[in-house]
Amino acid sequence: MIVKDAVCPFCGCLCDDIEVEIESGRVVGVTNACDLGATKFLGGERLKTPIRREGKTWKDISYDEAIRYAAEMLLDAERPLLYGWSGTHGEAQCVGVHMAELVRGVIDNTSSVCHGPSVLAIQEVGHPGCTLGVVKNRADVVIYWGSNPIDAHPRHLSRYTCYAEGFFLENSFRDRKVIVVDVRKTRTANIADEFVRVRPGGDYAVLSALRAIVRGKTDTIPPTVAGVTRDQLIRVADLCLNAKFGAVYFGLGLTMIPGKYKNVRNAIELVTELNRHTKFTISAMRGHYNVYGSNEVNTWMTGYPFAIDFSRGIAFYNPGETTAVDVLARKECDAALIVGSDPAAHFPRKCIEHLAEIPVVQLDPYPNATTAFCSVQIPVAVTGVDAEGTAYRMDGVPIRTKKVVSSDYPSDEDVLTRMYALMQEALKR
Ligand code: SF4
Repeated sequence: MIVKDAVCPFCGCLCDDIEVEIESGRVVGVTNACDLGATKFLGGERLKTPIRREGKTWKDISYDEAIRYAAEMLLDAERPLLYGWSGTHGEAQCVGVHMAELVRGVIDNTSSVCHGPSVLAIQEVGHPGCTLGVVKNRADVVIYWGSNPIDAHPRHLSRYTCYAEGFFLENSFRDRKVIVVDVRKTRTANIADEFVRVRPGGDYAVLSALRAIVRGKTDTIPPTVAGVTRDQLIRVADLCLNAKFGAVYFGLGLTMIPGKYKNVRNAIELVTELNRHTKFTISAMRGHYNVYGSNEVNTWMTGYPFAIDFSRGIAFYNPGETTAVDVLARKECDAALIVGSDPAAHFPRKCIEHLAEIPVVQLDPYPNATTAFCSVQIPVAVTGVDAEGTAYRMDGVPIRTKKVVSSDYPSDEDVLTRMYALMQEALKR
């Protein structure tokens, strides 16, 4: 059987043209996906049942036992942390927010360690963005700043930029100009029309120089700015000013370097300057599958996109204080529920050391680095493969994802809903 138009559950591109071949209830072939997406559909060795740590070994336990353990762990904790959420659907994220409010915990998603600074910059100066479809059909200049889509979002180029046909563009494949700004020559830089190599930490200065040139202050630019020559800066500014429609996509190479959200704010302000002359947009290259959705769901439900602390009985938001890494580094939280992410693979050592000292329940189909620190791991259906639901693409478009195979595994939403019901019942008693 072939399932057509499946949605890839790996990166923020959410490619929705995937064909998945199913035989005897298993995925045996994937067409149209990149290697990252195909690997996600084909899957690996999954946990068969929930497991609980017993000394140095693991014991198989039932779903009932595992769910009860997680509910009691959250109810008994003084300051529980509910973290992750980017690899799961909006429906599960909603239940997570209700749970965090009920136990007065801190709920945070992976954007606090990736595009959190972008969210802060957008809160300050707004977001002149657009959908991927608009870029595909209209953009004649595309800039990738501090991002390397060939390796991280492989089909971004073939579906929306470099290699995509544009409805309103003649010869888009040949005429569309691609500019890459980065500190090293990435694989994406190799195919760019213009590669701007910036000295590490120099992005803010380069953005400011481009803003000055766009404002007509070319004479104020020194011979080089953060390793970029004045001639190249003028050439890049000219390419942008002569574009009919330009799009900037930025990645962690801009958000996670010194200057953080101020770099993104400066990039947004460059785009605002360019919009005095032509049309330009700017968007973040969101990495995790539904990380955009976790910001959306948290915002509708609490008013804030990530790092929400319910300990005061109301939603409180202060990134740098209420973000998961800060709560863990201060050793404040005394229990953690991890859903749809693998913090042990990304967090600073200090945070992981604290995770190893407190009870941790993880919902994940596969053993991963966080498994080593868990008290209990509950295997769930793979979001977007054997669980359907709603995810947000990197441009903010919500997409209903399909279930391409059936399995006996419960979804994240099923497990969380049961956990939440037990917690509500216990609090009534
Ligand atoms: Fe999946 Fe991203 Fe590859 Fe598209 S680009 S197939 S969403 S991993």
